[in-house]
Amino acid sequence: MKKDLPQSLDSLDINRWEQILGNVALIEFCKDLVWAVRVKGVRTGLKDFNAIISGLSRTGKSMCIRFTMKCIGCFDLNFETLVPCGRCMSCKTKQYRSGNRGWENWCSILSPEDAPTPIEYHYAPVDCTTLDKDKLARLVFDLEANEDSLNIVYLDEIHRLTSRNMDEQLLIPMESYEAIWIASSAYADRSDGSNRKPLEKMLLNRFTHRLTTQKPSVDELVIWLAERCERLGVTVEDPRTTLGLIAQRSDRIPGLAQQVVDKVSKKRDKTLTRKILDQHVFDFDDGQIFNAGTDE
Ligand SMILES: [Zn+2]
Repeated sequence: MKKDLPQSLDSLDINRWEQILGNVALIEFCKDLVWAVRVKGVRTGLKDFNAIISGLSRTGKSMCIRFTMKCIGCFDLNFETLVPCGRCMSCKTKQYRSGNRGWENWCSILSPEDAPTPIEYHYAPVDCTTLDKDKLARLVFDLEANEDSLNIVYLDEIHRLTSRNMDEQLLIPMESYEAIWIASSAYADRSDGSNRKPLEKMLLNRFTHRLTTQKPSVDELVIWLAERCERLGVTVEDPRTTLGLIAQRSDRIPGLAQQVVDKVSKKRDKTLTRKILDQHVFDFDDGQIFNAGTDE
C-alpha cells in the first residue's frame, strides 16, 4: 500500500536539526541561542546574540532562523535535544519571510507548567527590500511597547538597505532597544568585485557574531535529495548519477537543487529523468554564479 504523501511542498518544513544541510557553525549558534533563552532563561545582555549571517541565496539562512524561532516558541521543547514538539500552536504557526502582519508570531508561555522557563517573546521578521522610514518607525514602536518581552528581530537581506541609506537608520534602534538582532545577507563582508555599496561599518559592528553559510558535500546533498524524492513520491532514473549531477550543477546549493525535484513532483508522471535534468535551467541569482563556490 502506498504511504500517505504530503499535501504540498510546504508540509516538508523541517522538524529536526539534522534536516538542515551543511551550515555547521550556523546550527551551533542557533542551538546556543535556543539553549540560552529556553533552558537557561537569559533575558539580559541580549546583544551578545546579535548575529549577521552571510552566504549565497538558498543556502539555508532563513530556514535556519525560522526553525530556531520554532524551537524558541515551542510549548513542549525537548530540553536535551532542543527539538520542538511539532504539535503545539507555535510549531504549527507558519513563519513567512516578511511576516503576515508585520509584527509577528508573538508567543506567550508564562505558566511554568507549560514550560520550565516561562517565556513571552515577539519575533519580527523584516524584509529589508521594502523597509522604509515608516516601517522602521512601526518596528521601533512595537519594540517600545513590548519592552518586557524577549524581542527578536530578523533582518532578512540586510544588504538591500544600503542603496537607500536605510542601514544608517538602524543604528539608533539597535542601540536603544534590548532585543536580539539577527541579519542575513547574500553578500559577505568583503569586496565581491561589484560596485555594491558595503554595509555601514558602524552597523556591522553591532553584530557580535559573523557567520557564513557552509554548503553540504555532494554526497550529503545526494542523500538529502533522495529523501526528498521519496517524501514527494518522485521516482529517479539512475538515481546515483542523476542526483549526483543535480548536486554538481546546482553548485551544491540545496535550495537550487531541490527545485528540480519539486518541479517533477508536480507532474502527472513523477519520474525524474536525465532529459528533464538536462533541460532544467538552474536559477542562479544575478551575478552570483561568478563567485559561487568561494564561500567556504
Ligand atoms: Zn511545539
